[in-house]
Amino acid sequence: MNYFDNASTTPVDEKIQNLIFETMKKFGNPSNNYLIGKEAKRMIEKAREQVASAIGAEPNEIYFTSGASESNSMAILQREHCWCSPYEHHSIIYNKRVEIKTNLEESLLLLKKDYENKKIANDYSNNLMVSQMLVNNETGEIFNIKSIAELCDKMGILLHSDATQSIGKIRVNVKEEKIKILSLSGHKFYVPKGIGAIFIDKNINPIIPLIYGGGQERKVRGGTENVPYIVALGEGITQAVADIDKNYYHYLNLKNIFLKKLKTYKNIDWINNSPDNSSIPSILNISFKNIEGEILASLLNDEKIYVGTGSACSTGNFEPSHVLKAMKVPDDYISGAIRISFGKENTEEEVIQLAEKIFEKYKLLI
Ligand code: PMP
Repeated sequence: MNYFDNASTTPVDEKIQNLIFETMKKFGNPSNNYLIGKEAKRMIEKAREQVASAIGAEPNEIYFTSGASESNSMAILQREHCWCSPYEHHSIIYNKRVEIKTNLEESLLLLKKDYENKKIANDYSNNLMVSQMLVNNETGEIFNIKSIAELCDKMGILLHSDATQSIGKIRVNVKEEKIKILSLSGHKFYVPKGIGAIFIDKNINPIIPLIYGGGQERKVRGGTENVPYIVALGEGITQAVADIDKNYYHYLNLKNIFLKKLKTYKNIDWINNSPDNSSIPSILNISFKNIEGEILASLLNDEKIYVGTGSACSTGNFEPSHVLKAMKVPDDYISGAIRISFGKENTEEEVIQLAEKIFEKYKLLI
């Protein structure tokens, strides 16, 4: 198997697997006051410190969730209105509470002018939040959120950022970047699916829960904690952050080798949808003219080569990706997109073979 869909999910690291098995043997409920309960609680608190330290937060600002879809849904509950960029994940853009802004920064600048001209009462900002991701999951584009963060900060608007694709790829520091709420998910960095966290700035009060329950996570997220996965998240994020530089050069090398090989083929019409100088190197989104990316991916699948596509399948039709639409990828290329996302285990030989197989399958489709 040659797996190139690490932006979708990653295999669980072997050390993390062992840690989970060991932790499972200690089954105490962290809400209980006797010894095994206290031990479970202590393990959770260590993981909380690890997650906090990985993103420049304080431990009391971290709450464990089931993953980024939950964290995103919870984030959006914190204000009456939410504006988001058109590049956000489905867990944001499908949420009925959000309003998609084609150009989020421009919308914020207009709002600022309206404030200054006293067209809008200042307390509007108390009811508004903004959601802008750090790295896009389909193209790997890194968004420079500095000016959006400055505007939000000046107007007192809460800034949420979905950092799901950023952890272990770029350095994230919530305080420096003026992010007030942040979502992350373990299965993008070699931890199992179904565990994630939300950072919520300590000055946000009250915090509105998405899941009510028995007072866990300081009454912010109900449900008995999944201790083994929380422990795994703490270790996994620590490792992911420690490995950023090493993995960056590994991914960059694989991406360059792949692109060099693909460029040797003549009579193949493709474009690169991942901005050259502002993308993480582990995600590469390319589009082939006048073919269906889904079909290309399925032909590769027959060879046990796995890549992603950005399109969503609805009622048997492939709907082109909302991200590529927002980027204005030309019509004759938009459906021909595939997403290649490298992982730490991929090798140079594998990416050369990937380019060869893509060319072979592409020829069948034109
Ligand atoms: N946001 C982004 C940017 C993602 O890539 C994903 C996962 N594809 C999610 C949110 C959802 O994460 P989870 O699977 O943990 O719910």
